[in-house]
Amino acid sequence: MEKRKDIYDRLGVKKFINAAGTYTAIGGSRMSKKTLEDIADAAASHVEIRELQKNIHEKLAELTKNEGAYICNGAAAGLYLSIAACIASKEGKAFNYIPIAKIMEKEVVTFSAHRNPYDWSIKQLGAKIIQIGFPNIILPATAEDLENAITDNTVAVYYAAGSEDGWIPKGALSFEATVKVAKERNIPVIVDSAAQLPPVENLWNYTKQGADIAIFSGGKDLRGPQSSGLIVGRKKLIDIITKIGFPNYGIGRMLKVGREEIIGLFSAVEQFVNMDHEKRRNWCEDEIKRLQEAFNRSNLFKIDRTYPNEAGQPIPRAFVNIIDNNRLKAKKLQELLMEGEYGIYTNSEDRNGVYINPMTLQEGEMNIIIDRLKEIEG
Ligand SMILES: *Cc1c(COP(=O)(O)O)cnc(C)c1O
Repeated sequence: MEKRKDIYDRLGVKKFINAAGTYTAIGGSRMSKKTLEDIADAAASHVEIRELQKNIHEKLAELTKNEGAYICNGAAAGLYLSIAACIASKEGKAFNYIPIAKIMEKEVVTFSAHRNPYDWSIKQLGAKIIQIGFPNIILPATAEDLENAITDNTVAVYYAAGSEDGWIPKGALSFEATVKVAKERNIPVIVDSAAQLPPVENLWNYTKQGADIAIFSGGKDLRGPQSSGLIVGRKKLIDIITKIGFPNYGIGRMLKVGREEIIGLFSAVEQFVNMDHEKRRNWCEDEIKRLQEAFNRSNLFKIDRTYPNEAGQPIPRAFVNIIDNNRLKAKKLQELLMEGEYGIYTNSEDRNGVYINPMTLQEGEMNIIIDRLKEIEG
């Protein structure tokens, strides 16, 4: 049967099956049919954006069991807006009236182990990043280190959430200990939990445990629009974010969130909260088992189950070990997977094989992956 030609075929842009994970550079995740339908409806009519925001933000606060919620255009933008709100809160006036020189005095405390390229959101605002501890276990950061780093200029503590089994190195203070110190000093804790869904409970757990703000990417496992993000937390800070954010003039004006993103993310969060997460996890386990069974007699590939995944999420992955390294190297395997009838995009993380992440796969795609690996095996 002739395959339908879509816009990517017409453009000559290579498309592929994402067996790597919710990486933004390859489009993160795919929206559900229901979300896409809701977005089409959103685009078909005009509404008052502020009224839509108010309506949806209230519903999102309830859905995520938080005092407040705000939809921004990505977790990185969410961090930018949240730190701006912390600065405005500290100064006790609207962000637009705070001179740049004043912003530049402000400090955001974080752990060396939590530094990452997304903290440009803090630097771009003009605030300073005050770094404590080391990104390893030689001398782990202590509560005393955090207490000593807090000054009159401190506006927030930035905490990168995630498992040390994922990308975050050891060396930081625990979340609970961080919150305890920050609370004593009345400093808000901003949690970057962009990729920390699942588990779904993280939508409310960080804030329940004392964070003032938690930020999630809309385009990762939430499966909302790529250019969306969700900020949840204390009403006082969310109210300030709402004033700084789009469609108001000021720094939030360049972080536009259209009604398509607002509706799309709301629809996605509603589906995510109501999803049968256990069924989904079992589906992932079964897909990995199928892959293992397909190669249990192979003399080229050995399939291992690994857990948790690269972001520390409670979803297993499969690792396709190359047994015979004289026959095949990881980089070559990645190239061959991309070359088949359907391209298959994988990560190797510098190991002797490739990871297959079921998180971003749909029904039927594991079969295509198995068939292609068999072809490569020859
Ligand atoms: C993906 C990610 C972000 C950025 O999320 P966007 O929604 O793409 O802006 C920020 N922080 C961390 C830790 C991330 O993994």
